[in-house]
Amino acid sequence: MNKPVILVVEDDAPVRNLMSTTLKTHDYKYLTAPTGRDAIMMASSHNPDVVFLDLGLPDMDGIEVIRQIRSWSNMPIIVISARSEDDDKITALDAGADDYLTKPFSVEELLARLRVTIRRLSMMKTDSNNDSSVYTNGILKIDYPAGCAFLNGEELKLTPIEFKLLCLLAKNTGKVLTHTYITQSIWGRSWDNDIASLRVFMVTLRKKLEPTADSPQFIQTHVGIGYRMLKIE
Ligand code: CA
Repeated sequence: MNKPVILVVEDDAPVRNLMSTTLKTHDYKYLTAPTGRDAIMMASSHNPDVVFLDLGLPDMDGIEVIRQIRSWSNMPIIVISARSEDDDKITALDAGADDYLTKPFSVEELLARLRVTIRRLSMMKTDSNNDSSVYTNGILKIDYPAGCAFLNGEELKLTPIEFKLLCLLAKNTGKVLTHTYITQSIWGRSWDNDIASLRVFMVTLRKKLEPTADSPQFIQTHVGIGYRMLKIE
């Protein structure tokens, strides 16, 4: 992959400058947009690899920016919002954002999120090239058509729901999936009861997938928001 181009959408000049300086120092190319309108224009004209999107913009809601970009592109979008705005994060993820960063954030966090997203991007590119029916992530292997999963070559004894959950997370590796999105995909609805069941299934799935403290952590919990499958190095 050539030097990735990052679009930074942020109306707050000091934050925007901190982000662009960080990107520049770490050898990324970047573009900046202070408004939603500029963001949509630059996203369509420059086709960046990743977008950092502040949700609180002066001219329009960041969620609307996501919806507009998603109408023509799957480019990864990482939203930026304040800690108190968990509901906004969930709405943003459900509108198609890939990840979120909470203000105030450190330079290390910004770079870590970017690395996760770029890995996801390169995985998506490889997957579309060989259209694989077998998923591999570290010692985890999923044979989608056969309906089985293996850890270190040993078959995991998963219930049908656990297998569905694992596949859903695997197919979206690197992306934060909200509780609502997951329960909608698994049960076709998202009632409070479904979200409670989801927690239970995640506990049993994890016991099988991550049996010991020193086994790799595949599934990351985002408290109050959802889960993400991490790409293991
Ligand atoms: Ca703002």
